[in-house]
Amino acid sequence: MAELLNLESILLPGVEAKRPLIIAGPCSAETEEQVLSTARDLATKGVKIFRAGIWKPRTKPGGFEGIGSEGLGWLKRVKEETGMYVATEVANERHVFEALKYGVDMLWIGARTTANPFAVQEIADALKGTDIPVLIKNPVNPDLELWIGAVERIYNAGIHRIGVIHRGFSSYDKKLYRNLPQWHIPIELRRRIPNLPILCDPSHIGGKRELVAPLSQQAMDLGFDGLIVESHCNPDCAWSDKDQQVTPDVLSYIINMLAIRETSQTTENLSELRKQIDELDDQLLELLAKRMRIAREIGQYKKEHNMPVMQTARYNDLLNRRISQAQSMSMDRDFMRAILQTIHEESVRQQVEILNK
Ligand code: PEP
Ligand code: MN
Repeated sequence: MAELLNLESILLPGVEAKRPLIIAGPCSAETEEQVLSTARDLATKGVKIFRAGIWKPRTKPGGFEGIGSEGLGWLKRVKEETGMYVATEVANERHVFEALKYGVDMLWIGARTTANPFAVQEIADALKGTDIPVLIKNPVNPDLELWIGAVERIYNAGIHRIGVIHRGFSSYDKKLYRNLPQWHIPIELRRRIPNLPILCDPSHIGGKRELVAPLSQQAMDLGFDGLIVESHCNPDCAWSDKDQQVTPDVLSYIINMLAIRETSQTTENLSELRKQIDELDDQLLELLAKRMRIAREIGQYKKEHNMPVMQTARYNDLLNRRISQAQSMSMDRDFMRAILQTIHEESVRQQVEILNK
């Protein structure tokens, strides 16, 4: 499989094989005017592939669930008027047939769908006999095998123009990110299927406009091949995902500011290690935030049961146990003591705050 998949394979005629490959457009097609006005602006910024969701998977019912097939006619107009290629999300056989009927150039499979092998197989079966490029988002859960499984299902249906998209993973604690990036998963995917093009979706990872630029840079630093970014002519009025969409102007600025480093430099080993450090720091911060949340829950329990915040025996036990554990993991005792004390002090401070509320 590996040798047949490469960046060139997902490129459409006239689209340069230059990093980053850019796909941009609104989260959802809303009205013909919104689609065309966004598309015209993006085309003037040099975007060659336009995205728009026609059928929208929403977490809860009642929200805007997509305009449906009517919007496919608008995408057709985008092609005719701007010359851009158009891409949309498919989640079942009917979507595939409809999209193909309207001449959609590229399809993507959403994160919720990738997590469901029945749905992926249904899409794969519907795609047999076509050679449309298909991008496969990571499943909502951080399961690399499930992601690779989806790639294999589509590949086995005879589709050899495949790319993948890292859009982050669902987590219970939504802190900085809407969907937690776990860069080591696409990095491992690259090791397993070396030529498979990997794109990043900074919009769905970040969930906020201001994270689009730093996440795009991070993806470029990690050697990703492209970006799929949500862009809307009037983001504040978007019918879905308004907080994470940027105007075509802002998108163009973000792309122009990206530092694109050569993927084959000699310092690659060093930057690889630094990226690993950055990712570990991200994980450390997420874990610390989670630990603090639980400490506050304990604080609430202590308050309700009239218990003092300081439980000295428990603290001493925790400290001693972790210090010897740290030693057995080749870490310095004093270093670990200092870290644990600082964390503990902050937990106590937060619990005292709850007590006094
Ligand atoms: C989207 O791209 O609009 C979308 C719904 O993304 P995801 O499947 O990553 O949630
Ligand atoms: Mn969206």
